[in-house]
Amino acid sequence: MAAAESMTTLGTEHPEWRPLLVVIEEALRETEHPRWTQCAPALERSERDGRPLLDGAVFNVAPGAVRRWLRDVLTVAAAAGTEVEPLAEAIKARRLDPLLLFETAVSQDVDRLDELARSHGDDRGVLVALAPSIAMPMLQACRRAWTERVPPAWAQPYCPICGGWPALAEIRGLDGERHLRCASCGGDWQTAWLRCPFCGEGDHEKLGSLVSPDSPARQTIEVCEGCRSYVKTITTLTPIRPEHVVMQDLATLVLDVTALEHGYRRPAAKGYGVTVRVVAASSRLGHLLGLRP
Ligand SMILES: [Zn+2]
Ligand SMILES: [Zn+2]
Repeated sequence: MAAAESMTTLGTEHPEWRPLLVVIEEALRETEHPRWTQCAPALERSERDGRPLLDGAVFNVAPGAVRRWLRDVLTVAAAAGTEVEPLAEAIKARRLDPLLLFETAVSQDVDRLDELARSHGDDRGVLVALAPSIAMPMLQACRRAWTERVPPAWAQPYCPICGGWPALAEIRGLDGERHLRCASCGGDWQTAWLRCPFCGEGDHEKLGSLVSPDSPARQTIEVCEGCRSYVKTITTLTPIRPEHVVMQDLATLVLDVTALEHGYRRPAAKGYGVTVRVVAASSRLGHLLGLRP
């Protein structure tokens, strides 16, 4: 299903999600723009001892492009009724540096985002809610540029590219390989069967599955008694397109509700706390990259 169609279906089924869906839709549209691919830094090596490829990355971006992107997100969110005024005002009055906001969103550091939001009058968690969409074009570009550099034997529970927790697992194809998928960057890494991806528990007595009464047959929830976490699991013939993982995550929200009702949870905050830097590219470089401010 095309992204736009999926969005329309989700929006019809869940009108209360419209404010979030319109922002994700905008982020998916922006993700297609080549300007982000050009900003993904080259990697010097791929073996990183369990460090996601994003950790330590330095992004040279044209401040104008970032400002424009933030303005687009805030405009779309405001039109859908989200209260973005405190953030928009802080940027306009130059109290909030757009590059700092963008850097914090790309690092997916919820604590830093929260701090940034509160110090600029956003007490409703608007920035934390918008941040994944703000970061999406950059993170998806990193995934496109770096997929080949992911160590094939990646055995961590967090995304090898951006460090986020998996949004869901896929049991894929005729072989039934088990893959974890990241909604932020679209990352895809294989994982072992009958093992909790989060704590590594392999005792089958401590692993189980739940089925939501409202979900289709090919969707289940795998749970771990060791760490009380869960991962939504979808059986697929072909891989979910990287840009569509975020929509599959939303479309299977009923599974999250069932898991929470049974006392399971997704791991808190972030998988691997990455550090990234976003710096202003010189205008000449920006010009060469087609990123004129
Ligand atoms: Zn990721
Ligand atoms: Zn576990």
